[in-house]
Amino acid sequence: MKVFRTAEEIQSYSLNKRKEGKTIGFVPTMGYLHEGHQRLIKEARTHDDIVILSIFVNPLQFGPSEDFERYPRDEERDLKIAEMENVDAVFIPTVNDMYPRSLSITMKVTERTDVLCGKSREGHFDGVATVLTKLFHLILPHRAYFGLKDAQQVAVVDALIEDLNFPVELIPVPTVREGDGLARSSRNVYLSEEERQEAKYLYQALEHGRSLVKNGEKDRNVIINEVRNFINEHTHGKIDYVDLLTYPELQPLTHINQRVILAIAVFFNKARLIDNVIFEQNGELSYE
Ligand code: AMP
Repeated sequence: MKVFRTAEEIQSYSLNKRKEGKTIGFVPTMGYLHEGHQRLIKEARTHDDIVILSIFVNPLQFGPSEDFERYPRDEERDLKIAEMENVDAVFIPTVNDMYPRSLSITMKVTERTDVLCGKSREGHFDGVATVLTKLFHLILPHRAYFGLKDAQQVAVVDALIEDLNFPVELIPVPTVREGDGLARSSRNVYLSEEERQEAKYLYQALEHGRSLVKNGEKDRNVIINEVRNFINEHTHGKIDYVDLLTYPELQPLTHINQRVILAIAVFFNKARLIDNVIFEQNGELSYE
C-alpha cells in the first residue's frame, strides 16, 4: 500500500493509473476509521481497479466553536485498517500541503444547504465542496463513495458533480450501525457511558417516525413531533433539529407523497450526533 503526503505525488500516481487504463475509486474520510468507512472501502474494492483513501481533517468545514482541534486522530491505526482492506493508496496531506497559502477561490453551496446541518453549521458545506473540488482534481476518480449517514453531504456532492460537470460517479453507501442501532461515527468516542446507552434511542426515534408512515401517517408535523417527543423521553440530549424533507432536493413538504429524509441532530455533552432514514412514501427504506 502506497502512502502519499503531497498533492504532486498523489496526482501523478492517479494520472499513471489512468494511463494504464485502471478505474479509480475514491473514499474521502477524516480518518479515525471505523466499520462505516470500511464499508465504503469494500464497496470501492468491488467496483474499481484502484482504491484510494484520503485522510484529512479539513479545517475549512469546521466552525470556530466546533471540534477541529480535538477531532480524534490515529494515523497508525488507520493505516493498518486501510492495509487490511486492501486499499492501494492512502493520501494523508497536512493542512499546509492542502492549503499552502490562503485560498483565492472557494466554493459556495447555494442549494440544499439552508436546512439540517447546513443551517446549524454555517459554511460547513462550502468547506466540504472546496476540499472535494481539490481532492477530485488530485485523485481523478471515476467513482467516489460517500456514506448516507451524512445524507445532506451526499445531496450536496450530487449537486457539485452535476453543476460543475465533474466526470465522477457518486456512489451512496447505506449507514453502518452498531448492534443496538447507533450509527457508527468517529465522534461516538466523545460519549460518556450513560450517553452511549441513550444514543441508541436516536435510531429508534427515526424508526418510530418511519413506522408511523408505514401505518399510513402522512402529515410531516405529526411525525416530527412524535420523533421529538421520543428523543426527549428517552435521552438527556438537546435536539438541534428534527426535520422531514424531500430527498435529495431537501425541500419542505407537508404531506408525504415522494421519497423523503427524516433527519435528526442531537447534542450530548461533548458530541453532536446526527442520523437519518431515507424512505419512500409507503415508508419502505430507499437504500439498504
Ligand atoms: P468522515 O470521516 O466522518 O468524514 O466520513 C467519511 C465518509 O464515511 C463519509 O462519506 C461518511 O458519510 C462515511 N461514513 C461515516 N460514518 C458512516 C457510517 N456509519 N456508515 C456509512 N458511512 C459512513
